[in-house]
Amino acid sequence: QGYYARRGGVGESGDFVTSPEISQVFGELIGIWYISEWIATGKPKAFQLVELGPGRGTLTDDILRVFNQLASLLSKCDVSVHLVEVSPKLSEIQALMLTGGQLQSNPEDKSAYMKGISKTGIPIFWYRDIQDVPQGYSFYLAHEFFDALPIHKFQRTQKGWREVLVDIDPEVPDQLRFVLAPSSTPATENFIQPEETRDHVEVCPEAGVLIQRLASRLEKDGGAALIADYGHDGTKTDTFRGFQNHKLHDVLKAPGTADLTADVDFSYLRKMTQGRTATLGPIKQREFLKNMGIDLRLQVLLQNSQDTVTQEQLLHSYDMLMNPKKMGDCFNFFALLPHHRFIQPDNKHNPQSRAPLVPVAGFGELLLK
Ligand code: SAH
Repeated sequence: QGYYARRGGVGESGDFVTSPEISQVFGELIGIWYISEWIATGKPKAFQLVELGPGRGTLTDDILRVFNQLASLLSKCDVSVHLVEVSPKLSEIQALMLTGGQLQSNPEDKSAYMKGISKTGIPIFWYRDIQDVPQGYSFYLAHEFFDALPIHKFQRTQKGWREVLVDIDPEVPDQLRFVLAPSSTPATENFIQPEETRDHVEVCPEAGVLIQRLASRLEKDGGAALIADYGHDGTKTDTFRGFQNHKLHDVLKAPGTADLTADVDFSYLRKMTQGRTATLGPIKQREFLKNMGIDLRLQVLLQNSQDTVTQEQLLHSYDMLMNPKKMGDCFNFFALLPHHRFIQPDNKHNPQSRAPLVPVAGFGELLLK
């Protein structure tokens, strides 16, 4: 009965709109990021693209278009797509967007609940849980996913930490309210970091478990994870809020009808890797996209577009993604990479032949040669 199971209103007609829905360039640059990592790690023979919470499927569609444009580069690589999605409604929308209807429900390999072939000929599988996705060298993607997962809220009081709970207001029928737990709860005992300095914290244990799983997989099989979301690096406090029809909505009103969200605490995600992988970021969306070459891509699209309406639309969507007052500053990019990605291969016999380590795209300034 939850919001995503029933409704899941991504897009202009829904409750909120996301970067891939605003501009094709967003997904294209992320596609390039994965290709760049694939090249930097020696072009492995196969990779899986695993997206958590794909929404309408637009981001993967844009990434697959890039893979198709680079088909000659990827011709010897076995690419497959694995989508982790709980919403039956959104998985149908994704299937239509990505496969154009070439689908098989309940395929023989039981772990996936749906299977299809992309418009560009790449196999796509759907799962409800990351643990069902086959192991192997993988590129993970989570865009506006972690903010959708449930949080616990805690308040520091004179008697110590207390969990903020939801209760029924005894004075008003059908009205929920926030209350402080009268004593410590199991969540209070387990989810507050001993070194916490804030007075109010939001913790998403489900995100912690997922990061541990991603970090273990990357440590074992290699690849990379790119996580993009609005959030902070362990500084913000009370961020839990709701959206309905693109407007702020009281989180306790009409449960299940509004998008509920809380900023992602990247410091918590970093901690939850437990040192199994290296991490990069969080860096601001506008910096990441600039480093990935968004300005050049915009110039090309502007030159190729015939009419002023399209050009205005391109400039408008660029401004939405990059303007610090719009999505440029509040959205962040964060990456998990295996430690060996940063270690120089030991070439004792011929030290002169050592190639410099290839920098990770997006997290450093773009240098044009
Ligand atoms: N990445 C998309 C959509 C973000 S909305 C975009 O940027 O446009 C969040 C997505 O996560 C939806 O597809 C929703 O159905 C999915 N989702 C929410 N909770 C989930 C969970 N616990 N497991 C898997 N998917 C989930």
